[in-house]
Amino acid sequence: MAQKTKQSYDVIVVGSGASGGWACKRLAEAGLKVCLLDAGRPQSDQNFSEHKPEFELKYRNRTREILRKTRPIQSIFACDEYTADWFVNDLEEPYTTPSDKPFLWMGRLRITGGRTNVWGRVSLRYSDSDFKAASLDGYGENWPLGYKEIEPYYDLVEKYVGITGSVEGIEHLPDGQFQPPVPLTCQETLFRNRVKEKLGRFVIPMRSANLTRPLNGRGPCHYCGPCERGCMTHSYFNSAFTTVADALASGNCTLISNAMAYKVLMDADRNRARGVLYIDRNTRQPREVSARAVILCAQSQESVRILLNSATPQFPNGLANSSGVLGHYLTAHVRSGGGSGEFPSFDTKPYVEGGGPHKPWGVYVARFRNLPKDPPYKKFLRGFGYEGESATSFNWGAPGFGDAYKKAVLEPRTTIEITGFGEVLPRWDNFVELDPTVKDVYEIPVLKIHMSDGENERAMIQDMGDSAGEMLEAAGAKNIRTYAHPSAPRWALHEAGIARMGGDPKKSVLNQFQQTHDIKNLFVMDASGFTSSPCQNPTLTIMALCVRSCDYLMGELKRGEI
Ligand SMILES: Cc1cc2nc3c(=O)[nH]c(=O)nc-3n(C[C@H](O)[C@H](O)[C@H](O)COP(=O)(O)OP(=O)(O)OC[C@H]3O[C@@H](n4cnc5c(N)ncnc54)[C@H](O)[C@@H]3O)c2cc1C
Ligand code: SF4
Repeated sequence: MAQKTKQSYDVIVVGSGASGGWACKRLAEAGLKVCLLDAGRPQSDQNFSEHKPEFELKYRNRTREILRKTRPIQSIFACDEYTADWFVNDLEEPYTTPSDKPFLWMGRLRITGGRTNVWGRVSLRYSDSDFKAASLDGYGENWPLGYKEIEPYYDLVEKYVGITGSVEGIEHLPDGQFQPPVPLTCQETLFRNRVKEKLGRFVIPMRSANLTRPLNGRGPCHYCGPCERGCMTHSYFNSAFTTVADALASGNCTLISNAMAYKVLMDADRNRARGVLYIDRNTRQPREVSARAVILCAQSQESVRILLNSATPQFPNGLANSSGVLGHYLTAHVRSGGGSGEFPSFDTKPYVEGGGPHKPWGVYVARFRNLPKDPPYKKFLRGFGYEGESATSFNWGAPGFGDAYKKAVLEPRTTIEITGFGEVLPRWDNFVELDPTVKDVYEIPVLKIHMSDGENERAMIQDMGDSAGEMLEAAGAKNIRTYAHPSAPRWALHEAGIARMGGDPKKSVLNQFQQTHDIKNLFVMDASGFTSSPCQNPTLTIMALCVRSCDYLMGELKRGEI
């Protein structure tokens, strides 16, 4: 029998990351009583180690083999000795895949702030060529909202989060409310100018959630480098020390940590969500909290897992799944094509990769395929952008030995590397379901993830490699190397789409305010509502949509509609 908390809340928010942090801030500051359930432990500045050199760590950050014993998937990317215990233990909380469709579900955090602790901070708006892409090329569905509806929320979120960037006037990559951009290096400037001049493509300073001006008590970035280890000056955006902290400071938000949400509890007679059943990760005991409305913000797969685990006789295939669409149309950017090349060093001093201070970001190459005013590109639908930066290292490959080698190795080598991030078409046969045979250590059924690339993605990856070479060559780079791995295993980080929004309840799970069509007081405000997955990174849009949906929810509560 689950123990019930005595207090009843206005709203329960599950998950404290990018979306959950904003939901709590918006609702608690408006006076609603919010209960925030997060599966992770609390985050604090004491955990931040961005200034700690590797030699001060117990294992000098050479722990790949040790981490593999508990985190074989997480340790592939962004999870190292500095931050390992922020991440899920893959053995205690597994997921499964068909043997012929490997999927690397990395970036599973178990700490306040979720993925925003370690994210890359790239923050780009979508445009109507994304929201209405189906009308342009005939594939899939349009979003049930357009740029005009979300624009004021982009403004609001950007002003609070603090996004550095430059005004460029690119129609398909709208400008925002920017702090001054992080300046480009000489090599990045050269790359930018020559690519524009020779190919007409836009290479712009990265738009990123790193402050260049003080904001709400947070200090500007001092370019120490490894943001993914935390930031004592709070100069990048992490919901743990921004939105969640504000919500708690309002006095209206209660954070319950180590609370692994298992299922949404229903009042079947009234067809209303009445609360959430969670497992206390420390005691392994079940507990219940109740509220007038429930918002899931646990990250796409985790939120949909909760809905699938909440099946009832009325919703035997998962809660709010009368459409049968829940779990389908999984997307996650493809990013296995790109390239690098050498540029003149212009007297830049070399530094040891990963060691020296450096600016947190370089450049973004805006999408240039299938733009609304251009004829359709023949090889694939939609498009991709590149993230990139220059780095100056020692000449490790210098020939010779002795004094000559010592001298040669000090010669700086500057490279620019760019990595493509491409849109994946939403397809029915990319989906998640519950694995009937596997449970995690909390006895909660786990997900089975079915995800593979189609022809469109494979052709796009090839073009990411080819076009990277073309641009580096146009910029005059030497020793150009390109890569394209169309058969690489599918990656996580930007998963979306598995509880899609739409106007038609027969073809979608959520309406344009991320409210389930089936249950009025149940919302899913993370990226699972995305109707498609434009190539720009998703988190700015996750946050803007979430605030918009919270405003709608408050209106509905006031009107007594919920
Ligand atoms: C290494 C890395 C780099 C990235 N770089 C970028 C980037 O440059 N730009 C960009 O736009 N995006 C980036 N992303 C993605 C970005 O971090 C996510 O899009 C964003 O954080 C998702 O927000 P969310 O609220 O859905 O989930 P999260 O931020 O992941 O938060 C989910 C929270 O839910 C909690 N939770 C999970 N399951 C449960 C449960 N059952 N019960 C209770 N709580 C639960 C977790 O503990 C976590 O705190 C990156 C991600 C990673 C991992
Ligand atoms: S580079 Fe800037 S944002 Fe990143 S950890 Fe250092 S000070 Fe913080």
